[in-house]
This record gives sequence, C-alpha cells and structure tokens, in this order.
Amino acid sequence: MTSAEPPAFRFAKVNKTYRSKDGGDVAALRGIGFDVKKGEFITVVGPSGCGKSTLLRILAGLARASDGEVAISGRIVSGPGRDVGVVFQAPVLLPWRNVLQNVLVPAEVQKRDRTRAIERARHYLEMVGLSGFETKYPNELSGGMQQRVGIARALVNDPSLLLMDEPFGALDAMTRESMNLELLRLKERTGSTIMLVTHSIPEAVFLGDRVVVMSPRPGRVTRIVEVDLPRPRTLKLINTEHFGVYVSGIRDDLQATGGID
Ligand code: ADP
Ligand code: MG
Repeated sequence: MTSAEPPAFRFAKVNKTYRSKDGGDVAALRGIGFDVKKGEFITVVGPSGCGKSTLLRILAGLARASDGEVAISGRIVSGPGRDVGVVFQAPVLLPWRNVLQNVLVPAEVQKRDRTRAIERARHYLEMVGLSGFETKYPNELSGGMQQRVGIARALVNDPSLLLMDEPFGALDAMTRESMNLELLRLKERTGSTIMLVTHSIPEAVFLGDRVVVMSPRPGRVTRIVEVDLPRPRTLKLINTEHFGVYVSGIRDDLQATGGID
C-alpha cells in the first residue's frame, strides 16, 4: 500500500445527536475519529446503548452524522454503497421469499449477473451451514439460522467492506465459535476490510487486528487496542496468557468509564 492510498474508511470528528420532537434529544456519538486500513479487521466493543449500531449505520450510509465526516476509500459517504455488505443485529428477512431468494436481494438491487449471483449465494449458504435449506422460508428456520441467512446475504456481492452488527449474538456458543473461524478464513481469502461490532470482549480480541473500545453514551473512543496475536488464529489462542491480558485490559478500560457494572 502506498501512503497516497486513502484508508478503507475514516471517521473524522463525527458527532451524532438523535433529535426528538418532544425536545428529548439523545447524544449518541461524540468526537469519533479513526482510520482503518484496507484489509484490516476492526472490532468495536462498548456497553449497550453507547452508539455502536449508530456508528455502523452511519458508515453504511443508513444514518447521517450530525457533524463531521465519514469516508469510504476517500469518498464521502452519502448513502448505501455498492461495495458494502451489512449484517444487521436482527436479520430482517423477507417472509414471502425463500432462503435463496432472500440471499439474492442485494444482487438484485445492484442488478448483478444472475447466474453468478446464484453461484455466490449457494457458496455462502454452504459456508454458513445452510446447504439444503435454499427453498425453506424464514418462518421455518430458527433465529440462529435466520441470522446466518443474513450473513450470506451480506456476502453475496463479495463486498470489499463488510460491516457486521453483533452478528453472532443469537447463536449458541459452538456455532458462534465456528462462525468466528469461518469469518477469519473468509477474510484471509478475500482480503476484505471488516468492521464487527460486538459486546463480547473475547470475540473482539479473537477476531480483531485492532479493537475500538467505546465509552458509555454518548459514545466516544476510549482507546484503540492493537492486537498483536499471530494469524491464522485458532481457538487454542483463547486459552493463552497473552490473549487473557488483552481481554482483561479491555475489561479494565470499560470498567474505568463505567461501561461494566
Ligand atoms: P448500541 O448499538 O451501542 O447499543 P445504539 O447505536 O443502538 O447503541 O444507540 C445509541 C443511543 O441512541 C441509545 O441511547 C439509543 O436509544 C439511541 N437511538 C438509537 N437509534 C435511535 C433513533 N433512531 N432515534 C432516537 N434515538 C436512537
Ligand atoms: Mg446495537
């Protein structure tokens, strides 16, 4: 990468206040500023309500910052981007469409080649363990399975930037671990830039090249922790002392700002 290349994305002096008609404005984000390199895996942890989803939605072009600037590859974000995949906290599938048809939605919106899109959809459905469920409808799936459909849908266009909002919160512990590993493999293969929001400190450390630690609302960046742990990462890493030091350091940060009771 040359120094002239813009970052994969950038937040600069971003504030967000939700205005309310009854005057009860909510300050959600204050003075957010950081850059993320192309191909970096950035994770964001913070207490509930500190503005993590807001941060992700602003980057996805689904909400607007009140002040400041947000750019993807040097271009100011003004709406949803073509090369950005989003996994929402709740999967919001279309009930009248089957699994395959749900995964294909972003490809249809962007008018991608149909044959190729179906091939990518099947590939990612297999990756998330849903081969054989293509013709099932959302109401025939468990919550965890619906969430995995949402993940396949975010990937169908092979986005160069993947934004994930607590994507594994609804999954049981074992599925969550295997999804973590799949995500790391995906990242190795595609080189995409990923921002993943979680309230699990171990998950943030396990996945991230850097962990953005946020304060309680209004959310600020308390610290950005470089995770100097070798890749490829395996589950054995979780039991190492080095890993534990990162986790407890971040827990201390959260405690210091009142983010953990
Ligand atoms: P997190 O994802 O970290 O739990 P959110 O970004 O969802 O936090 O919310 C941050 C704060 O902004 C919360 O106090 C929440 O109630 C408020 N908020 C979120 N979305 C809206 C909205 N659309 N209108 C008004 N307030 C909102
Ligand atoms: Mg949230």
